[in-house]
Amino acid sequence: MLLTPQYLFQDVTHITPAFLRSQGIRALVLDVDNTLTLHDDPQVPARVRAWLEEMQGEGILLTIASNNGQQRVEPFARALGLEYVAKAHKPLSQGLEKARSRWGISRREMAIVGDQLFTDRLAGSLYGIPALVTRPLGPETKWYIRLKRVLEKPFFGLYFAKGGKIL
Ligand SMILES: [Mg+2]
Repeated sequence: MLLTPQYLFQDVTHITPAFLRSQGIRALVLDVDNTLTLHDDPQVPARVRAWLEEMQGEGILLTIASNNGQQRVEPFARALGLEYVAKAHKPLSQGLEKARSRWGISRREMAIVGDQLFTDRLAGSLYGIPALVTRPLGPETKWYIRLKRVLEKPFFGLYFAKGGKIL
């Protein structure tokens, strides 16, 4: 299924180096809004910052890929010292391909991390890499995202019906 989560994490900080090693993943493409921080928040929570540092300490490659624009993404990524792709047009593959080619690794070694099924999860499906879906950090304020949340519900339902847990 293109939209049903394969993995659902409470938030990014629940993604562990041991889990990534078990899946052969050594590079993560990270969504920003409601994945690393709240919508339009220029800061990341301290625990998310600590998680990013832990991942880097473990040698995990990290790149931000957001559908948001340069003005939002560039200062955010720069503050964290991370590479980024703005206007990634997820679920299309161009942002993921840009990240992969910069790293010079194969698709098998990477995963996408994000909170939305119609952008992040579907991008993973279309590009052929795992999506590590995270629960949104906060409530949605934009009407079109709230609508997508309603449309997402059956696919989360399928995940739980198949015995999926919040990791
Ligand atoms: Mg998001």
